[in-house]
Amino acid sequence: MSKYIFVTGGVVSSLGKGVTASAIGALIKAGKYSVNMMKIDPYLNVDAGTMRPYEHGEVFICDDGTETDLDLGNYERFLQIKTTKDSAITTGRVYLKVIESERRGEYLGQTVQVIPHITDEIKRRIRAFDKHNSDICIIELGGTVGDIESVPFIEAIRQFALEEGQENVMFIHLTLIPMVAGGEHKTKPSQHSVKTLMSEGIHPDMLVCRSQEAISDDIKDKLALFCNVKKESVISLPDAEYSIYEIPLTLQQEKVLERIEDRLDLPLKKADVSPWKTIVKNIKESTETIDIAFVGKYLQLSDAYKSVVEAFDHAGYNHKHKINLCNVDPEALEQNDKTVLDLLAKADGIFVPGGFGTRGINGKIAALAYGRINKIPTFGICLGLQCMVIEYARNILKLDADSVEFTPNTPNPVIEMLSNLKNIKELGGTMRLGAYTTNFEAKSHIAKIYGTATISERHRHRFEVNPTYTEQLEKAGLIISGRGPSNLVESVELVDHPWYIGVQYHPEFLSSPLKAHPLFDSFVKTIIDIKNK
Ligand code: GLN
Repeated sequence: MSKYIFVTGGVVSSLGKGVTASAIGALIKAGKYSVNMMKIDPYLNVDAGTMRPYEHGEVFICDDGTETDLDLGNYERFLQIKTTKDSAITTGRVYLKVIESERRGEYLGQTVQVIPHITDEIKRRIRAFDKHNSDICIIELGGTVGDIESVPFIEAIRQFALEEGQENVMFIHLTLIPMVAGGEHKTKPSQHSVKTLMSEGIHPDMLVCRSQEAISDDIKDKLALFCNVKKESVISLPDAEYSIYEIPLTLQQEKVLERIEDRLDLPLKKADVSPWKTIVKNIKESTETIDIAFVGKYLQLSDAYKSVVEAFDHAGYNHKHKINLCNVDPEALEQNDKTVLDLLAKADGIFVPGGFGTRGINGKIAALAYGRINKIPTFGICLGLQCMVIEYARNILKLDADSVEFTPNTPNPVIEMLSNLKNIKELGGTMRLGAYTTNFEAKSHIAKIYGTATISERHRHRFEVNPTYTEQLEKAGLIISGRGPSNLVESVELVDHPWYIGVQYHPEFLSSPLKAHPLFDSFVKTIIDIKNK
């Protein structure tokens, strides 16, 4: 039978609830319990697939093709689990199900209401998730307590705790302890947030207190008294000094695992956090830096490329190097802007991420041409691969070539729409999504990097390399090194270049601090080796 931990947030959003919940999961896992994680997002979108990346951060893709919130990426990276369509629920998804059932007459004429119909559907999804496979399920509730949007969810988890039994359900509340002028930590906002939570019927068992600096014993006393939580369950979680991967260690020092074991009546175990210690040690010992030109539209708002930034960091930890991703704005490149041209010229490597739409495309193509000609390690993902193909077709094959995404009537559509998607008009969930197998040419660079000829990676795209052009491209030197189902082009590379690889899939989703992704790792290692020569 599973035990459940619900993580709620108070005072303000963006306190790192997803990271904290994941780090708690990592610590529980280090204690040799099995853990699974789920996210509740109280917005009306059915999923995150159609949400703006610069407002909401990246869309994270699961193996099963679910387009979801970036927090699921944290769950996978911290816990080495595979999330699925059942790992996230949104208000939109819950209402859609209830309304569809109502339209089919399944409620037999009842008045359909938030309580019990919406709350029942929420509880059903929580119970259906994981199906008792894990010792502990952690469920993170997005937003902050007191939001109108979260009311049905709080009510559902209140009922859920009553039904499952108090010894099987624990509530952790993450809150902010601000510091005011004079250096004093203030507990009042947290008192209010706990009061709101209690007025909705939930009593937190643990307070995790986010602050810039650790909170004192006196502040813990005060919070315990006013929030009605045992003092040892008031946890201090100050800002990490180097990286979020210190958090499992901080939580261990604060004896979070012991508190959870107490509260959920679990046998006491000793957590082995040595892998996290190694990561933090490597980060601290990273003194050298490499510069990678990041040719994408939204790097300033780095959550839009969350998993990519993470994957570069993981490779950096492995080789004890800091990775400096320099924002080379492709539109500024198109204008020959001096600052970005200088950035590109001094970069040790060039990276073109995935993306959509025509804006900045010629800048990305120019950056790739620069990397190809000057033999600078160059890596393209998804749109990045597509731009590599357009660049090669234009500059080597001398074709007036483009993707039909940007020029629908181009004379040479080297990138065309996936044939099975041609008649689809809806935007939500209609791309080629999720995990597919790729087979590599045995002698290719990429097969050597993976150390295997067959891999599975996650996808999210609507367009592909047009098979009509692959022979010409290969004859001219752009090697098609990997192919997926129906011969779809999954990877391209150049010989006679230190590192020039494009992939149609998104390797960033499978990287973890505990195991850097081989492609990012090899790209970073090559750059370091060249720099050290
Ligand atoms: N826009 C391109 C496509 O749909 C690339 C997508 C991506 O980079 N994720 O195929």
